[in-house]
Amino acid sequence: MPEGDTVLRTARSLHRALAGRLLTGSDLRVPEYATVDLTGQKVTEVVPRGKHLLARTDAGMTVHSHLKMEGSWSVYGPHRRWSRSDHRIRAILANVEYTAVGRLLGTVQVLPTAGEQDVVGHLGPDLLGSDWDPAEALRRLKAAPERSIVDALLDQRNLAGIGNLYKNEVLYLKGINPAAKVGDVADPAGVVELARRLLSANTGRWSQTTTGNTNKGARHWVFERSGRPCRRCGAKISSARLGEAGLERITYWCPNCQPPGDVG
Ligand SMILES: [Zn+2]
Repeated sequence: MPEGDTVLRTARSLHRALAGRLLTGSDLRVPEYATVDLTGQKVTEVVPRGKHLLARTDAGMTVHSHLKMEGSWSVYGPHRRWSRSDHRIRAILANVEYTAVGRLLGTVQVLPTAGEQDVVGHLGPDLLGSDWDPAEALRRLKAAPERSIVDALLDQRNLAGIGNLYKNEVLYLKGINPAAKVGDVADPAGVVELARRLLSANTGRWSQTTTGNTNKGARHWVFERSGRPCRRCGAKISSARLGEAGLERITYWCPNCQPPGDVG
């Protein structure tokens, strides 16, 4: 699942290709917006908000997209080949130089830029935003001390940008057992700050690493390492689907480095 850093890199890539240029074509392959034509509008900017992407035009319109589980945007120069008949395509935005192609996007909609709050107004402070507000993120987290920490970190209304990868890695690095409740965590500010550091460190590269090592198989401490030895203590990494009913996500932890009852 794409996380805040992936969305930020995607926004930068789209911004470089689209901003300041007139659209020469648009093709939104979702029933509600299939007849919308943005040709002739100039894209002013493409910005991320949490895991949402907002492409704004000088006509006061915004193309809002969300990558959800499988989505991606690719940018093609004039000589790159791609197939327009690809059934995975949900959106195409083109100018004379570049074509941006969104595939398997979870959400595509066109709305007035003035109405963006309706789709992103619920989000908590953006970990990678220029308006990052750690005090507000902490206030929102601590407002529900009985909530499981695994759910609270993924809830984009608390703070926007953490997905399952960073949830798992932050809890490991802080020695927090995933069964802990928010109110049990000794240093929630440290948890939030570490999440921001890890996301920030990956905004310049596509191979997300939390270990600092970008080699395949060496990038994560516990994420997707079930049954493998802990890089610190050698204990077998555990995994289970944890979370509120209906929102369970696979969670990885070291039973030795993150013992129950010890919550960092
Ligand atoms: Zn360990």
